[in-house]
Amino acid sequence: MTQRDPISRISVLSTGTVQIRPEHVGPTRKNTYLWLATSQQWTEPRPVNTYVIEHRDGLVLFDTGQDRTSVTDPAYFPGGLTGVIYDRLARFDIGPDQTLTRQLAMLGHRIDDVHTAVLSHLHQDHIGGLPELGHATIVVSADEWSSMQRPLAAPRGFLRAHIDLAGLRWNRVHPEPLGDSDLAPFTSGHDLYGDGSLVLLPTPGHTPGSVSLMVRRPDHAPLLMVGDLTYDADLLAAGHVPGAGSKRRMRDAVAAVNALRRRRPDLTVLAAHDPTAADRLVTSLSADVVQP
Ligand SMILES: [Zn+2]
Repeated sequence: MTQRDPISRISVLSTGTVQIRPEHVGPTRKNTYLWLATSQQWTEPRPVNTYVIEHRDGLVLFDTGQDRTSVTDPAYFPGGLTGVIYDRLARFDIGPDQTLTRQLAMLGHRIDDVHTAVLSHLHQDHIGGLPELGHATIVVSADEWSSMQRPLAAPRGFLRAHIDLAGLRWNRVHPEPLGDSDLAPFTSGHDLYGDGSLVLLPTPGHTPGSVSLMVRRPDHAPLLMVGDLTYDADLLAAGHVPGAGSKRRMRDAVAAVNALRRRRPDLTVLAAHDPTAADRLVTSLSADVVQP
């Protein structure tokens, strides 16, 4: 029965925790720069999730977490005004056992086993594992990559010195027509291994090239890993968007995800910093599948 399922196991790990501003979680009517400059509050610590998918063609990661060097090396972040922005945006706590390599080991994997790492986008808390992934293929949307090339990359969250590392093997992908009505209203994307089990879908807004990963298995409910399209799957289900990024584009992407869910009511949305994501994953994996 599971013979035709190319995926054998899905887990989640977190490279430490992050605190962000409540306005960042949203919804808020405040302008991003206003709340960034004035917010006095931090959320409770939230996860910095990496999803780990055991596929027969190789071990796949969706996002790679935050680099522990960012909390041990004062030179990790830029100085000046850009440094102030990073300071005000997020606070990380990452112990020695919370690196990508150590967390993977706790799941029984060696970092060398990673075949492909898909990045939802190129912000610091999603690219942190790159120094450990020189042997893997790194998949990112071509749109996201070009966004990093444009001026003022660092203030927009792209720390190129920690992304465009020597020796990394990048696969910059463009959305292609999918011809797969099961994924409507999404009509384009990137089928990672060509078997329909792992399909990248464009969900821009948080950043210009943000993507989500749809995971489909014959005997399990579908999962949609959405990166930072939301910080709370219930807010996304209610049509709300976070307080940072292009709200117009995020609203479109959220509407598309909710339309997809109307076709597949058993869809589980897994965000990178949603405190409920790990429980949602376990619940989804243990639930009886609802066929459309
Ligand atoms: Zn993030």
